[in-house]
Amino acid sequence: SELPKTQMEFANVANTDWVLLANRNWLDDIKKRWKSPIDILGSKIPVVANLPEKNRTLIALEAWDGVHPWKYELADIEDYQKVIGSDSEWTDYSIEKRAKLLRAAAVQMEKNRADLIGVAVAELGKTIAEVDVEVSEAIDFANYYAQSALDVFNSEGIISMSGGINLVLSPWNFPIAIPIGGVLASLAAGKRVILKPSQNAAACGYLIAKTLWDVGIPKSAFAFLPANEDTLDSFLTDDSVFDAVILTGGTATAKFLLERTPKLKLYAETGGKNATIITALADKEQAIKNVVQSAFGNAGQKCSATSLLILEEEVFNDLHFKNLLKDAAESKVHGNPWVFNTEIGPLAVKINDKLKRVLDNTTDSEWLLKPKLDGDFFLSPGIKWGISYENYEYNNELFGPILCVMKAKNLDHAISLVDNLDYGLTSGIESLDTNEVDYWLNSIKAGNLYANRSTTGAIVQRQPFGGMKASCFGFGMKAGGPNYVLQFLNKKEKDLTS
Ligand code: GLU
Repeated sequence: SELPKTQMEFANVANTDWVLLANRNWLDDIKKRWKSPIDILGSKIPVVANLPEKNRTLIALEAWDGVHPWKYELADIEDYQKVIGSDSEWTDYSIEKRAKLLRAAAVQMEKNRADLIGVAVAELGKTIAEVDVEVSEAIDFANYYAQSALDVFNSEGIISMSGGINLVLSPWNFPIAIPIGGVLASLAAGKRVILKPSQNAAACGYLIAKTLWDVGIPKSAFAFLPANEDTLDSFLTDDSVFDAVILTGGTATAKFLLERTPKLKLYAETGGKNATIITALADKEQAIKNVVQSAFGNAGQKCSATSLLILEEEVFNDLHFKNLLKDAAESKVHGNPWVFNTEIGPLAVKINDKLKRVLDNTTDSEWLLKPKLDGDFFLSPGIKWGISYENYEYNNELFGPILCVMKAKNLDHAISLVDNLDYGLTSGIESLDTNEVDYWLNSIKAGNLYANRSTTGAIVQRQPFGGMKASCFGFGMKAGGPNYVLQFLNKKEKDLTS
């Protein structure tokens, strides 16, 4: 049967093959080049928009390896007002022209892969391999959203799709792919867009923004406005300012915004408390590999991370399994992200209070693998063994490299433990029995369900990403899926009766 057009014309790009010597050498070049970040980015990460130069507040930020060498400039209320009130030739561009520019951005990101890797390692301590995958995702978003816009436009009934302005509030844990995704989907839908990156990830945001301007996306269409949260307040209490506020961030933030302004057009992907179930019928070694990847990749700082491991009793009581799990986590190389072999880097921001609380309230005998905290940023993987649903860490997202293990009497019990969670972003099962997997698939309420695979690393088009329950607020189709651009359109239907 014929594939829909999008699926025919879209292909995911490949990640860097680190086995090849040429790529390892390329990596050495990146490291050398990024020894002096100021030479690449300048001493200031600036606000960039169609705005006159003026003196703005500059701030310094502490980082995993000391204080960042550059200063960050902040936009103020007047900057936001001016950008919101202006217009752009973007809305007059044909959809073909917009799609062409998005595809040019994809090509440019591939060309800039080295610096995009460099900036994320420098700014956030993300490991090289993790950023590489993220750059691929950003490129995929550009190509995929270009194609979706063309498809929608060509589809019967929709003749107009421009005007209005979106705001993207992006996080620091995916400092490249998430901002680029929101920005390009907005542009694809004919909107102007403002990016307000997480302050901790503004250098990454600036570099991807530069990539878009370099290919000819006008600054009048896409403004880069790092700012304090207070600056945004008046714009987020008025539901008529933005056509869409695309937030990836905390559940508390999304709740607060919607409670304050119920008609705010919020598209929010928020937290996760994600579980993987391992049944007695799993390939145990493969399961351990997947769980360790899901729990400790990016030091556990993914909304999609597995942070609860629910074991069927037989697996829980299997000492061999327990030792293998501990060894697998312990053998992960933890440390300096500039060293290629490092698999788990530092925390991107200072250790948070929830993690501290768990570290402070766990006795040595409760740890299967005791995490070590070195300073405020380096936390090695930890596994807490045998928690119950009454524990704090059962239903609270920790956002760090801590995995908590629970015992379930059987699959039904395991499913009920997942069902009882407030969040519903990702969920995993490890079982070679298709009946078990099907039963689980039909029982779990979460946005992304993964069987015999890690719960992290959704791939554009193949695994559109988004949550249910407390992991999703407001509107919100899945990122990297067929409805993502569609949801931002001003649709003007053709009159099919005439
Ligand atoms: N899309 C990412 C993944 O599948 C997670 C994004 C997030 O943490 O917000 O792992």
